[in-house]
Amino acid sequence: MKPRYKTSALKDRKSFRESLVSWFTTHGKDYPWRRTIDPYEILISEVMLQQTQISTVLGKGYYTRFLTSFPDARTLAAANDADLLKAWEGLGYYRRARMLRDTARAVIAEHGGVFPDDLENLLKLPGIGRYTAGALRAFAFGLPAVLVDGNVARVISRIMDFSDPADETAGLKLLWSWAEELACGDHPREYHAALMELGQTVCRPGVPDCLICPVARFCRSRAPEKLPVKARKTAVTAIEEHALWARDKLGRVLLHHETGKRRTGLWKLPVREVGETAGLQVLLDEIYSITRYRVTLRVHRVPASRSFKHLPGDTWIDPENISSLAMAAPFRRVVERLLRDS
Ligand code: SF4
Repeated sequence: MKPRYKTSALKDRKSFRESLVSWFTTHGKDYPWRRTIDPYEILISEVMLQQTQISTVLGKGYYTRFLTSFPDARTLAAANDADLLKAWEGLGYYRRARMLRDTARAVIAEHGGVFPDDLENLLKLPGIGRYTAGALRAFAFGLPAVLVDGNVARVISRIMDFSDPADETAGLKLLWSWAEELACGDHPREYHAALMELGQTVCRPGVPDCLICPVARFCRSRAPEKLPVKARKTAVTAIEEHALWARDKLGRVLLHHETGKRRTGLWKLPVREVGETAGLQVLLDEIYSITRYRVTLRVHRVPASRSFKHLPGDTWIDPENISSLAMAAPFRRVVERLLRDS
């Protein structure tokens, strides 16, 4: 059962913040990006975490590896596409990697390699929206900031018992203004990290753990599991993608170098219309999700004797060299499995 609401977080902001920060001092997790105040390192973590879970970013070593390849804005600004995409491989949404490079280039060109700390100049950098600008101000510079991500939106919706849609313009505006009212004060770094951590570990989606919540006495919600209210329900669409598994007499594998919008610069198996794969043996199905799609990637074996049309970008690659190419995760899994099996 949820503890009783006793006082308003907006009226008693100082106690609200102190309760959070004091809880965080004991319960806050030790992430690498919390051990640094380097704006570049914090930016990389923020962008990686936008669409990827902490456990993935840390567990698979993406964050450390990326910083080893590109330790500062200068090295990232100078990165070529192949190296950049390879370092981002497995994280998906590759546009983020290119945008990070654009940000690094702008910091070098316009600020002599030193990140600005004021909101106006941060927001002028490519790829930096108000959330990321706020995160940089709070976590790198320890300056007053406002930042609302999914976790913070959920916590504030519940604290304020906000039952209008939190994903529409009016709802978002209100959440940001509450966040701003609550945030002003000392210790911006710890306060914002605490609010995010509370959303990740205690005030979780679904049923929150109110009995151990450090700010339960400020929380107005009576049915927190129903909050935040969302207006938009994203329908998942199932689609199929048909790929070819072809090897030549030398054992090389036919891969395709993407030039299209979605994964430009990445390698994958050649993809064809379903009609072009008629009569070919199906080797395996790999199922993955991307944005609102649930994709069944069906791989068809092309016998060496069968001729088929090659498209621009199709290239025979020696199996030894495949691991050094940047490849989207579903294709990487399929190629590794088929190479192993053969
Ligand atoms: S866990 Fe969330 S819903 Fe529960 S008391 Fe804390 S802030 Fe409110």
